[in-house]
Amino acid sequence: MPRRKQFSINGEKVAPGERKTIMLPIAELYDFTALEIPVHVVRGQKEGPVLFLSAALHGDEINGVEIIREILKSELLSEIKGTIIAIPVVNIFGFHNKSRYLPDRRDLNRSFPGSKHGSLAARIAHLFMKEIVSKCTHGIDFHTGAIHRSNFPQIRASLDNQATKDFATSFNAPIMIDSHMRDGSLREAARKKKVNILLFEGGQALRFENDVISMGVRGTLAAMSNIGMIDEEKVETTKYDSIVAQDSFWLRAPNSGTVRMSVKLGSYVKKGQTVALILDLLGDVEIEVTTPEDGIVIGVNNLPLVTLGEAIIHLATVERLNKRELKKRGFIYPQADID
Ligand SMILES: [Zn+2]
Repeated sequence: MPRRKQFSINGEKVAPGERKTIMLPIAELYDFTALEIPVHVVRGQKEGPVLFLSAALHGDEINGVEIIREILKSELLSEIKGTIIAIPVVNIFGFHNKSRYLPDRRDLNRSFPGSKHGSLAARIAHLFMKEIVSKCTHGIDFHTGAIHRSNFPQIRASLDNQATKDFATSFNAPIMIDSHMRDGSLREAARKKKVNILLFEGGQALRFENDVISMGVRGTLAAMSNIGMIDEEKVETTKYDSIVAQDSFWLRAPNSGTVRMSVKLGSYVKKGQTVALILDLLGDVEIEVTTPEDGIVIGVNNLPLVTLGEAIIHLATVERLNKRELKKRGFIYPQADID
């Protein structure tokens, strides 16, 4: 028999059939308390894909932290083919501070692929690429909306790559966005290393949202069965028949004021439809915000106070859907509103 390939992270070997937690040291706090990123490796007895699951790259986006915990508890992992590398909290500094950023206000997800001698963000990115991404064939990175913003559960991926598209489709999210790369993102850096990577967005920062978490868990297990890591028959899949959006844009406040929303996450809106009202305090002014295109509401600002130009609603552009299609899609998500 050929010898099995050795697998190690930060110099610590993980044998076939072994589960192991490995701590990646990154830096100390001001009082020299060591700070480390916990990495949990689950290596199957049989060879197969190597999948990383990462969350809280933005330290306050924590639905994915719980998604990963639930996946690690799944009995299905006892007989996986291949290896899972789970990193529930990548930005450990931000997580402790309930903040998106690192202590110097840098955004880790704009600092990839990083460098050995750069800022703290660049160093963490570099370490993550070296110890995690370079060992993987696949990856799923979990995010949520930023503070005061909610995102409709969605997969963002480079759908022009067929293998990535198949992996993304198998996740069964209600909507997939063929999204452009963001400079400095983990997704871009991983894609350049030929890793099939998906980004799951759902819910808002600093919350655990049950519907988003269960969708993330189901989707990840379904995607794992798609690439042969777990037995297809053992995975419960909900087929959403994902809508594919080619693009998305934010509707911005045409005036400062308070806001009343007329649509919810998951709503399908038609060109010219009023989606929000900007109001003054005494009832003299009501400014309608209308949409210039048909689309699906994939993000909303939950804070009803805006200044001129502030993002209010994130719309994914989709082709006009007919009534039957809308009815069918009406079941895609509990909050979807398609009257
Ligand atoms: Zn994020």
